Amino acid sequence: MVIIAIGAFAIGLAFRSLLIEQAKAGITATSDEIARVAEAGNALGFYDQATALDALANKEQLDQWASTTQYVQIDTPEGYPIGKSSNMGDLRLGALPPGIDQRFTFARDTDGVALLVLDRKYSRDGKPIVVAHIAQRLDIVDRETRRAQTILIYAAIIACIAVVIASLFIARSLVDPIVRLTGAMEEIGSEKLDRRLRWKRGDEIGRLAATFDAMLDRLQGAFARERQFISDASHEFKTPLTVINANAQLIRRWGDRDPEVRAESLDAIVDESARLAEMVGGMLTLAKADSGDQIPKEPLALNPLVADVVAHARDRAAQSGLELRAELAPDGPYILGDSPLIRQLINNLVDNAIKFTEEGEVVVSVRQEPGTARISVSDTGIGIAPETAERLFDRFFRGDPSHSRAIEGTGLGLAIVRSIARVHGGTVSAAARPDGGSVFTVTLPALELPPGDPLLTEIQ
Ligand code: ADP
Repeated sequence: MVIIAIGAFAIGLAFRSLLIEQAKAGITATSDEIARVAEAGNALGFYDQATALDALANKEQLDQWASTTQYVQIDTPEGYPIGKSSNMGDLRLGALPPGIDQRFTFARDTDGVALLVLDRKYSRDGKPIVVAHIAQRLDIVDRETRRAQTILIYAAIIACIAVVIASLFIARSLVDPIVRLTGAMEEIGSEKLDRRLRWKRGDEIGRLAATFDAMLDRLQGAFARERQFISDASHEFKTPLTVINANAQLIRRWGDRDPEVRAESLDAIVDESARLAEMVGGMLTLAKADSGDQIPKEPLALNPLVADVVAHARDRAAQSGLELRAELAPDGPYILGDSPLIRQLINNLVDNAIKFTEEGEVVVSVRQEPGTARISVSDTGIGIAPETAERLFDRFFRGDPSHSRAIEGTGLGLAIVRSIARVHGGTVSAAARPDGGSVFTVTLPALELPPGDPLLTEIQ
């Protein structure tokens, strides 16, 4: 509003100076006319100052030059008035100060009307012959300026009102949806996580609402997975706990009398508690892997890790009559990772391959590809049914019950593999091999180390 008011004032001033310029142009035109007549005297042979003064101070002539808004007065070079237009009445315009040939000044007439005056000295052959004062009344200029200013002030007031109304409207249109959004968000809270805003707006508020809906989707998914995990875990814990409980009761009841029952029940308790411990261990690893960035990562060489896991598992494979081999990459890939977790990832895959393979071989290979390190574990075992391939990595998922009953496990091994791969920025996938058996492939972002890097000797 202040800017609009200042603008209106400035436009008013500019308008006034424009009108004054116009007035000056009118006065200058009259003064040029006077000059022409003063010089015309030359052609007629009037050389002396007195004749020139007579010709210029002629009342008729002066009235012709003057108009209703313009006065003309002729002075001698010394400043003595010798003629003026009849519309001037008693008005007398001031003399031109010595040493100045021409100037514009402001004055007032007898009615107090502002005047713009041109005082100009005319010379012939270097001698001053006459001084003319041409005055233009500025009442029209003032009136027009006032009118323009009034119009501008009204326009400014209307503009201010329009600006205020528009600002209120814009502010409301911005604030209203935010208020509604906040209300909806408060209402949804943690209790009504299934509610969505579903606002169909193409603006920023619409994007905010869509982002909020997407965030709720993720939150709801995370809560659902958490609930599922707790329910699965409780369910999985129940079986070994029931077995432990039942066998403990058997020992209490028959243990003293029947050493066979006691030995069998104790074996069952030891097995089931070991299974429980394994499950708890698996869940702790999952929790660690899920904690993401908090895992300390260091440069690791994959070849020695894989070779070590394979060496440890070789006896187990041999007991099942399997050949276990490692095929390492010549200049092994390097990754940034947590050594115990990566070791566990390889171990889980190798363990599964041995568990689910009756005869043949298990091959663990390490490959270096541009920007990627790849570990694959292939076996000649039971293979993977296409319908379960997706679910293998779910927590507590165990495949074909006919196998899983006979083969020990918790259903957490592959979920742990996936979590560890993810936390290292990698992926894992399972596929059936065309000639039977399966292959599990883990890809991890490779750490590019130039040959000769001192880190290489350190991590080998
Ligand atoms: P667990 O081995 O304890 O059952 P996992 O999460 O390690 O749990 O594996 C989940 C399921 O995936 C297994 O029950 C099995 O059905 C299937 N699976 C895992 N590894 C293999 C494999 N190498 N060959 C065939 N099936 C496998």
